[in-house]
Amino acid sequence: MSGATLLKESGPREVFCGLTSIVWLHRRMPDAFFLVVGSRTCAHLIQSAAGVMIFAEPRFGTAILEEKDLAGLADAHEELDRVVHDLLARRPEIRTLFLVGSCPSEVIKLDLARVAERLNSKLNGTVRIVNYSGSGIETTFTQGEDGALKALVPLMPTSQDEQLLLVGTLANAVEDRLVKLFNRLGITKVSSFPPRQSTNLPSVGPGTRVLLVQPYLSETARLLKDRGAEILCAPFPLGVEGSMLWMQTATSSFGIKDSTVQEILNPLILRARQALTPYKEKLTGKRLFLLPESQLEIPLARFLNRECGMQIVEIGTPYLNKEMMSKELELLPENTVVVEGQHVEKQLDRVREKHPDLVVCGMGLANPLEAEGISTKWSIELVFSPIHGIDQSSDLAELFSRPLHRHELLNRKQLANA
Ligand code: SF4
Repeated sequence: MSGATLLKESGPREVFCGLTSIVWLHRRMPDAFFLVVGSRTCAHLIQSAAGVMIFAEPRFGTAILEEKDLAGLADAHEELDRVVHDLLARRPEIRTLFLVGSCPSEVIKLDLARVAERLNSKLNGTVRIVNYSGSGIETTFTQGEDGALKALVPLMPTSQDEQLLLVGTLANAVEDRLVKLFNRLGITKVSSFPPRQSTNLPSVGPGTRVLLVQPYLSETARLLKDRGAEILCAPFPLGVEGSMLWMQTATSSFGIKDSTVQEILNPLILRARQALTPYKEKLTGKRLFLLPESQLEIPLARFLNRECGMQIVEIGTPYLNKEMMSKELELLPENTVVVEGQHVEKQLDRVREKHPDLVVCGMGLANPLEAEGISTKWSIELVFSPIHGIDQSSDLAELFSRPLHRHELLNRKQLANA
């Protein structure tokens, strides 16, 4: 383990809830539908976060519990059954229906697992109903994906085959490139979870080696391990170095020779490092503060420090799974401050005191910080962008150099107008 200083903090938080993950999960599995069992607040969040879908046929909705439903649970169950029935009659193409719990106390009282069980027996296998919680009390926004995948693990078929399982949502084009690369490296059976079709779940068993694509899937990893899979511990595939070490962890577990790996990866690494150069020039020496939101903070800081020359002021992360993050922590500079949890006011005080060049944070904090003259990058953008793999490293660096560039232009303009 590195000499990173690990601290904990608790207090008021400023993060999106797990419902937000529906925005990328419904794109990944077009035959699935996410029905949020929640309040009007939840419906507003989903509509504004995924507003873009308003012009397409949406694959998410909200079963809003009205006042009358709250009077008695019997009403709430009936109401939910009615909404599900109407939805499936209207949308016969739905193959998997996720009932997503939220945080209003009336919803917490509902046993969605039992509702799912009841509906499953009623529907007799025509549609699969699963449930998980996206409640802001229990989850931050990326943990919604962990909940959704965890709900699918028991439905995965069992297999003894030797295979590599990539776990975590990837952009389809990035997934295709990574799978092809693993095939060229000599790993012939590679599957992804979640799959592109919700009913086409990959198999799992003692021959399965799991390589996590995203760092926020601890619960899913735990369940896959219980199904016999081996969880490979590696840095995450962000940046040239992280992606290379991530791939090497898989190839060495499959007994593939280092020389073969180098022969295939070296040209990609060379090209990616060249593409990074202009961004490195912009980012080197700039001071970076990451507020906790997505759990991507540690791998991002590692990439921006080691490959782009940025100085880390502080890394905040909503949760720290030390075991899963051990390979990342080893790569951080000595004495890097990593704070697990959040006390948003204290953190903002530290941001103001240290005055970094760039803050990675949630949307709610970005505008006030920008108004104080601090450049920001929204964490949520990193979850929607195709940033994984060696080839995507320059695109990833570009996402961070853009706000600095904009800040520079605004300063110049202000000086010119002064
Ligand atoms: S789940 Fe909770 S935090 Fe999320 S939108 Fe609904 S009420 Fe708000």
